[in-house]
Amino acid sequence: MSEEQFAEVVSQYVPPAVEAEAGVNEKKEKKSVSQNKLVKRLRREVGRALHDYNMIQDGDRIMVCLSGGKDSYTMLDILMQLQQSAPVKFELVAVNLDQMQPGFPKEILPNYLESLGVEYQIITEDTYSTVTRVIPEGKTMCSLCSRLRRGILYKAATALGCNKLALGHHRDDIIETMFLNMFHGGKIKAMPAKLKSDDGKHILIRPLAYCREQDIERYSEMKEFPIIPCNLCGSQENLQRVHVKRMLQDWDKQFPGRVDSLFTATQNIVPSQMLDRNLFDFEGLEETQVRDDAHEKRIPVVNQWFGLSGDKE
Ligand code: SF4
Repeated sequence: MSEEQFAEVVSQYVPPAVEAEAGVNEKKEKKSVSQNKLVKRLRREVGRALHDYNMIQDGDRIMVCLSGGKDSYTMLDILMQLQQSAPVKFELVAVNLDQMQPGFPKEILPNYLESLGVEYQIITEDTYSTVTRVIPEGKTMCSLCSRLRRGILYKAATALGCNKLALGHHRDDIIETMFLNMFHGGKIKAMPAKLKSDDGKHILIRPLAYCREQDIERYSEMKEFPIIPCNLCGSQENLQRVHVKRMLQDWDKQFPGRVDSLFTATQNIVPSQMLDRNLFDFEGLEETQVRDDAHEKRIPVVNQWFGLSGDKE
């Protein structure tokens, strides 16, 4: 080997340790690119939902309902980011309802919220005792529990001067609810992105309505939110919801994009192609029917075929 050839071989040699480090760096870089994409996607989806449903207006004071789960942490985090860049001014108040479930770690949320510097309030109401007293053992307590919680949160919103409440339900919650209502309630009904309370005093918004649960899960892990377990009440997760969730996950594995399509369907309802007489005036269709002369002339002939024409006699 000539001296020049030797020099070339040496220049191309990469020690194994350097090579390994390059591999690690490349992995890190890939991870950070995918995390950036995730952050951008979630911010974009929330921004789009806020815009599409005109969820937030100038001067709104929004109570952000925080359970200590991945969804509500993500919602607060992204709303705080958007607050900095939004063209309208709005206030956020994070609110957690301590339902006195055994083992609820009381210090986690205040510590976290202090570290964010956001206005917050922890409300303590013993709904746990009420629910466990009223619901027979072994039955799911969620329906009564959420009704009580909703009532308390509405009252709190009024006391805190908030005109809106933000809930952390996401796209997958919405689709699951739609199927649950179809399977068990005989209704095509999901969760709206925006809703007025029955007494008309509060507007409820769901800023994560367009976000996928999978993205929220990844974001929550990335941000290392201090998650509070949601099984403290001892209630079994609603088994029907678990069943529907699994069904949707299986579908999406088998037919990628199906859940996206289902979600799009919730925004594209065609009342004239359904059978709901309250949504579409089927009885009155003839009143708006366009008839031409030829049509008028054909009617007696057609009637004759079916033996309907009085003219025959
Ligand atoms: S899981 Fe427990 S805390 Fe959550 S809604 Fe059901 S009963 Fe209430």
